[in-house]
Amino acid sequence: MRHLSIKARVTLWYTTFMLIFMAVTVFCLLLLSDRVSQRRTREILSNVVSDAVRDVHFRYGELDTEDMDFYRDGVSIFIYDTSGYLLAPQINLGLQADSVLQDQVIRRVQVGGTPQMIYDLYAVQDNTAFWVRGVISMAEADLAFASIRYLVLLGMPLFILLAALGGFAVTRRAFVPVIQIVEAAEQINTGTDLSLRIPEGQRKDELSRLSRAINQMLSRLQESFDRERRFTSDVSHELRTPLAVIRSQCEYALSPNSDCAQREEALGSILRHTRRMTDMISQLLLLSRGENGTFHPNLAQVNLSRLIAMAAMDLEPAAESAGLTMEAEIQPDVSLSCDETLIIRLITNLLVNAIRYNKPGGKIQVSLKIEEGSDRTSPENSSQKQKTAIPVAVIQVSDTGIGIPKEKLPKIWDRFYRADPSRSSEGTGLGLSMVSWIAQVHGGWVQAESIEGHGSVFTAFLPLSH
Ligand code: ADP
Repeated sequence: MRHLSIKARVTLWYTTFMLIFMAVTVFCLLLLSDRVSQRRTREILSNVVSDAVRDVHFRYGELDTEDMDFYRDGVSIFIYDTSGYLLAPQINLGLQADSVLQDQVIRRVQVGGTPQMIYDLYAVQDNTAFWVRGVISMAEADLAFASIRYLVLLGMPLFILLAALGGFAVTRRAFVPVIQIVEAAEQINTGTDLSLRIPEGQRKDELSRLSRAINQMLSRLQESFDRERRFTSDVSHELRTPLAVIRSQCEYALSPNSDCAQREEALGSILRHTRRMTDMISQLLLLSRGENGTFHPNLAQVNLSRLIAMAAMDLEPAAESAGLTMEAEIQPDVSLSCDETLIIRLITNLLVNAIRYNKPGGKIQVSLKIEEGSDRTSPENSSQKQKTAIPVAVIQVSDTGIGIPKEKLPKIWDRFYRADPSRSSEGTGLGLSMVSWIAQVHGGWVQAESIEGHGSVFTAFLPLSH
């Protein structure tokens, strides 16, 4: 049984069940109908014989047959005297049974090879004793019963065969998606093509739900594999450049031709690139810990107004040396439960970008305010907005810098994405990914607006309670 397919097992199981059920049902029905028909025949026989007794009359010791009916309801009537001599009728003698007269006993006998049922009644009428015998043929009833039996015995296997074939066909059709699932899984298993999908069809049964669920799982797996692949290649690409620089600077510093000043310059370059790599790796570690769910923010009630003012103050000299002016408009005493280090990183990343991608003589504006309910842009569709019910702290950094082309704006939150490759050596390409992730860790979200050549506005929304 175990080596059979599920289709065969299901078919075998219900065919056997149906066979047993039908055999028992048919047997019981036949038995019951035989009993009922026998009982009915006996009733007719005894009633007709009793009626015939009442019709018997003797005149001067002779049987008067004038008003008598010798055949009623399929029963032939015979009248005998007490010594068993047939008095009437004188026709249809072939139906007369030879068997000994027995009072009130219904029995089956064979007359000329035909099954008959007979019933005798001893009676006295007009001072004369006599016997009345009723004979009914069972040939017709037996034939009908035998015909039904043959019909059932022939029809039942045919019916079961048809049911088994039909059932097998239906089961096979129902199992087509399972076979497709198995084939797709085998193909994915043997190859590397995760873009394969199981056909879902138009059905609404459990198997199409399973196909859909597996397809969704495959899409997510493919997405995550693709992300992983992209990530590995991005990281190796990002690390290759500084490592190549460090290597060439080391070779340059170690060459006998380089003097002290050149070695110092090489060491400075090595230090800069090492710092950038360290920064990048620590940001990557943090991001991947966030993705794995192993990062737990160190939440504490923080004076956000003070934190942002301090971060702006720290970066003011850098802005000034780049020829930029920085203005801050901070709502006092905004308090937020947050991870202080992460929030400093969020504001610093936005400010560093505002400095880095600005134009000489440009402006930077930092602001903090509380909004009672803010429009949240749906990540799937930027035209869809939903209103948040709780108050949010809104941190905004705007600049009058180079701006970002409209088509590149949605991608700036991706890791290692750079809208302006000419300035790629300056950052790690992870700053805005960190900003977005930090906002998410705090139950918030981010938004960017920009006009190419005129400047950008970056906003982080952090719910006051999350
Ligand atoms: P990077 O380390 O390259 O700055 P980010 O993730 O911080 O990486 O930013 C991604 C890209 O978005 C940048 O390379 C830059 O092209 C663009 N960008 C970020 N901030 C600004 C800004 N204030 N003005 C113009 N472009 C910006």
